[in-house]
Amino acid sequence: MIKKNLFNICFTLVFFGLFSFIIFSYYEDIARALYNHDVFPTDETFEIEACQQWTNSTRNFDMAPDNKAENVTVLMYHRIIEDEEIDDIHLEEDGELVSTVLLKSQFEEQMQLLKKEGYTTLTLKELEQYINNDLDVPKKSLVLTFDDGFKDNAMEVAPILRKLDFNAVSFVITAAVHKYDYPFKAGEFQYFSVDDIHNSCDVFEFESHTYNFHKRMEDNTPYLTGKSDEKVKEDLENSLFNLDGKRQAFASPYGAYDEENIQLFKDLGFSMAFTVNPDVVYPGTPMYEIPRKEVFPDDTMEDFKEKIGLH
Ligand SMILES: [Zn+2]
Repeated sequence: MIKKNLFNICFTLVFFGLFSFIIFSYYEDIARALYNHDVFPTDETFEIEACQQWTNSTRNFDMAPDNKAENVTVLMYHRIIEDEEIDDIHLEEDGELVSTVLLKSQFEEQMQLLKKEGYTTLTLKELEQYINNDLDVPKKSLVLTFDDGFKDNAMEVAPILRKLDFNAVSFVITAAVHKYDYPFKAGEFQYFSVDDIHNSCDVFEFESHTYNFHKRMEDNTPYLTGKSDEKVKEDLENSLFNLDGKRQAFASPYGAYDEENIQLFKDLGFSMAFTVNPDVVYPGTPMYEIPRKEVFPDDTMEDFKEKIGLH
């Protein structure tokens, strides 16, 4: 009898010991798996209103008449990964970087060039006024944009931009944002946590890249052009709610949009919308079809200079 009880106690202890050990060892992974399956609630906000200070204010650029920009380039990036952290997830089958991933060293070199050449990074409000012919901006003006809202933007990009006194735009898939913070692992697809947004809102202005419609239908049609107008409207309204009702800008996933979408952007009160059409922006450029030039990992510095119109 005593033996049997002892056996039971030992068995229970070993069982709980093992159980605790497993939970303890995999705590991070378990927690991350739980968070990753969550979507950000539609009835909560990132509470970013207070920290996006430049959204409505514009600078008065004091400059010589011959230094006025004839056009402005908007650049588009996705992920920036530390060179040593490059993993299988960032590579194509042939070993080349996937088109949305740039090495941090490459990105830093590009930003250093912009600084050295005296570039100004415009806010969206300044770009809007430039397009409306209400604001002159210097020749060497750019808008930097980052799509999807990857955590590496907060961890790697923000410190670089902050150091150089540059600002940028982050187009966020708001459903992908995590309510709770979690450790950064470059080798995974991780999106902003709310803390990441708060910690980098001195650098980024956060705008909509849909709530949860960064997806394609079975026949490959992007949700934005494939789903009903009501469904698209509902999705974009959710993203606007998450973003504290800010209605400055929208960027279409995959650059896909149609006439109905443009009408919807206007109806929802967005001031501007961006495409992935690689062109420059002029005063008078259609406000809901603003072109952007994507920067690719195989761009040389010469390609980059060409993209920004630096000769
Ligand atoms: Zn995207």
